[in-house]
Amino acid sequence: MQNSHKGILIVISGFSGSGKGTVIHELMKNPRYALSISATTRKPRVGEEEGVHYFFKSKQEFQSMIEHKELLEWAIFCDNYYGTPRQYVEEQLFNGKDVILEIEVQGALQIKEIFPECVLVFLTPPSFDILRQRLEQRKTENASIIEKRLYRAKEELEFMYDYDYIVINDILSETIINVKNIIQAEHCKTARNQIFIEKLKGE
Ligand code: 5GP
Repeated sequence: MQNSHKGILIVISGFSGSGKGTVIHELMKNPRYALSISATTRKPRVGEEEGVHYFFKSKQEFQSMIEHKELLEWAIFCDNYYGTPRQYVEEQLFNGKDVILEIEVQGALQIKEIFPECVLVFLTPPSFDILRQRLEQRKTENASIIEKRLYRAKEELEFMYDYDYIVINDILSETIINVKNIIQAEHCKTARNQIFIEKLKGE
């Protein structure tokens, strides 16, 4: 029997190149999880599709989403806007899904304010050398953008203290198990099982 049927909001953050995308891709093989698709003003990378990887917006469109309170949170990361559309997250949580947000640190803290019961997971490579190698190998950004993202990664270090869990992404298969176990353990938390306890008391 699965503990706590209520959906949990899980925020996964990590330095650019930490392997968040790969880990989340694996998680999404389980229909119990729903992945929120963010809006961004960043230009699509080769192979990225509208509505699959992001909802690609102009700055004006993004501003309008902010004004109309369509975003749960938003932040500027390396000169581009990123934000989480509100409606999908609320609907999926209501339907009992575990909702995954793959967002950066400023957004994660905003989410913690709105949903204190959410779970913040920070994914990190074993070292900054490995991070640089991964960013260079994936060839999706040019050298100056890689430098910007590495610089930002160093700034993000300070935010790691605010996370509930730190997962070192060294061996991918182990990382995925670790993240799944964290979510599983969260479902077993006493605070998330109050209704079940009350039910037992009434028997
Ligand atoms: P990328 O440009 O590499 O796709 O994403 C850059 C950063 O923005 C990553 O750290 C990613 O997690 C973050 N990000 C993606 N979507 C959102 C969002 O909706 N809100 C916030 N705050 N960050 C996001």
